[in-house]
Amino acid sequence: MSQSNIVILGGGMVAGYAAKQFVELGLPKGELAILSADDAVPYERPPLSKSFLAGKDSEDAIQINPEGFYQKQGIELRLGCEVAQVDVQRKTLMLKGGDEFGFQRLIIATGAHPRPLDIPGSRLQNLFYLRSLRDSKSIRAAAEKAKHALVIGGGFIGMEVAAVLAQKGIQVTLALRDDRIFQRLFSPEMSKFFESYYAARAVRLIKSMSVTEFRGDGIVNSAVLRDGQTIPCDLVVAGVGVRPAIEGLANSGLDLGDGVLVNEHLETNHPGILAAGDVANYPDVLFAKRRRVEHWDNAVSQGQYCARSLMGERTPFRRVPYFFSDVFDLSYEYWGDSSGADHVAHRGDLSSSSFSVWWVRQERLVAAFAMNRPDEERDAAPKWIESGQKVSVTQLADSSKPIANPSTTTSA
Ligand code: NAP
Repeated sequence: MSQSNIVILGGGMVAGYAAKQFVELGLPKGELAILSADDAVPYERPPLSKSFLAGKDSEDAIQINPEGFYQKQGIELRLGCEVAQVDVQRKTLMLKGGDEFGFQRLIIATGAHPRPLDIPGSRLQNLFYLRSLRDSKSIRAAAEKAKHALVIGGGFIGMEVAAVLAQKGIQVTLALRDDRIFQRLFSPEMSKFFESYYAARAVRLIKSMSVTEFRGDGIVNSAVLRDGQTIPCDLVVAGVGVRPAIEGLANSGLDLGDGVLVNEHLETNHPGILAAGDVANYPDVLFAKRRRVEHWDNAVSQGQYCARSLMGERTPFRRVPYFFSDVFDLSYEYWGDSSGADHVAHRGDLSSSSFSVWWVRQERLVAAFAMNRPDEERDAAPKWIESGQKVSVTQLADSSKPIANPSTTTSA
């Protein structure tokens, strides 16, 4: 039976960044193995729906570590290796095909799977979900011939992919289930801004609508909406959310819920077994609630954290949730968690592409969005969320003055 002192189950961003951190901390060669179901060395996922999809990045450019890194550092990287089951008592992974792989310590980083649309016609060709490099390459290839694309879902994938396809000159329809774009994260004013921005770039938005059927002869040629409308399309990309990849962990004895349940040290209920990235359901000590975070920053910081932890560091995982996005020529960032906010302040000009949004709950900043804003605002956002100090909504909303330090502000 093959074995390794430390095994990372999953070859995504957690694995890439954890491996890099282990090497930087001096893990001896031969102590780490990565078992990846993917067929590519660990790569950055953000470009898959942005620059790589647009054809601006090569495969090499999006690798987290150069291809030769793993071999050079004595890290066993097994690609195309699917794990069927985890036996925590025997500290063994059962691989599909019958082999076993032993570990002393394990990092579960299995990520998430796209939620499929279970409607008639969903097996037609040219209908895609976007998760892996392979998916992005397939969409990129199909986009070369496509004339009409239907993008389903008004979340991250929907917004980013619709923008890339429109920039390729494809006629894009973006179908949202909600009555405004990114309802979950955006204020109504922000949704209005982005909807106008997309409309001005020829993206047709269909709101409060769902797709009930795809039609075509082998290859998709149209989609039927709930109201009976038919949308012609020769390419469909659905981004309707993900579910944590925990299927190989059922009956393992690990505590599972919405993901793998871990404590503030990202440890599962079994000693020596941690979980990180999209699959880890962890107690966020800053917001005093459990969450899973499905973003690049979380995979990077939790991957690095696990490496430091298994090399002996012991401090709780503490980080303000963060993501960024690029759509058309816009780039924006978002920190925190706006749920339960009782006030929202906007700074800048919401009819231009330079504004920031600040969500406050009980006089504390809980979330912030910034697009083309001064560095002082970008710097303040995570610091103020983390500090939990009182902020003034009135002062936050006063764009005529530089943003003030919360320790010097009074509540509104
Ligand atoms: P997402 O951001 O969760 O958005 C899914 C969207 O689809 C939601 O607006 C959801 O609406 C909607 N939806 C759900 N079921 C639907 C249906 N049957 N028909 C139409 N709409 C439906 O997920 P995603 O866009 O698929 O992204 C997948 C993952 O990739 C996420 O984990 C995301 O964080 C990650 N990602 C991140 C970035 C970034 O950080 N910039 C970029 C790309 C991808 P409701 O809210 O009403 O359910």
